[in-house]
Amino acid sequence: MGLQKLVLITALTFGLLLVGCVSQPSADSIPDKPGQLKVVTTTGMLGDLVERVGGDRISVKSLMGPGVDPHLYQAKSSDLLALDQADLIVFHGIGLEGRMARIFTQQKDKAFEAAALDPSLLLKADNTTEPDPHIWFDLDLWGKVAERVTQELSRRDPAGKSTFEANLRSYQADLEKAKSEVTEILRTIPPKQRVLVTAHDAFQYFGRAYGFEIRAIQGTNTASEAGASQIRTLADILTERKIQAIFVETSVSSTTIGALQQATEARGWQVKIGGSLFSDAMGDQGSESGSVIGMNLSNAKTIAEALR
Ligand SMILES: [Zn+2]
Repeated sequence: MGLQKLVLITALTFGLLLVGCVSQPSADSIPDKPGQLKVVTTTGMLGDLVERVGGDRISVKSLMGPGVDPHLYQAKSSDLLALDQADLIVFHGIGLEGRMARIFTQQKDKAFEAAALDPSLLLKADNTTEPDPHIWFDLDLWGKVAERVTQELSRRDPAGKSTFEANLRSYQADLEKAKSEVTEILRTIPPKQRVLVTAHDAFQYFGRAYGFEIRAIQGTNTASEAGASQIRTLADILTERKIQAIFVETSVSSTTIGALQQATEARGWQVKIGGSLFSDAMGDQGSESGSVIGMNLSNAKTIAEALR
């Protein structure tokens, strides 16, 4: 092969490689605008929060979309790439993303545990000393998570501090308004029907904030066992107290709730499936339930319609 031909082939090959790199941006890469802080969050709920506080000064990518269960989530190779590219990783923590803990330790210089609030504010999970991580159902606590994220963003991007703080005040005002709206929607449910039964125990903070008794087939972690004895106990309670509805969750299999409905019917009480609640994941982006405020309002409407 002549030298000229070799040079030509080499040039063509590199040219194609370069074209390949430019023309195929990975769908999973973080949106990159110059000067913006690149933030990767685990849950969609945190992505929503970081976007509200960070505004135009940041770009956000969330690893977990609609219907994804954070308790069981395992990072994909594209996630690892995004986490490597990030300036800041915002994860929920307090035990939520159980299978990603090692990654946050490896990335400890840029990983921030957003939900690590004062333990006295948190409920305990399943009668243990571990915190219950489902704090997006207490909108006051969620506002405190937003405060922590504001401080962290300000530390990483000091020039943006006043913007982040203004965005925080606006977000907290919206959270407060949403809390009143949820309270108003739930007002129509009579005290005796204020029992919320779901597949896994994600609604204890909801129960504390709005005065509901919370029952679930599985514990706070979907990795825990769903026992037949728990289904029998719940079927007895539903039958005795004539509870009208039980609920499935968008990020959890509906199998156990179906089994509970059957067990209750076998006892002579017709309990209905009251609808689908957003427990550990939001709805589709752009839809009503595609934000933390939206998922709380949507759940309240579903619960009120089924139990009043
Ligand atoms: Zn959960």
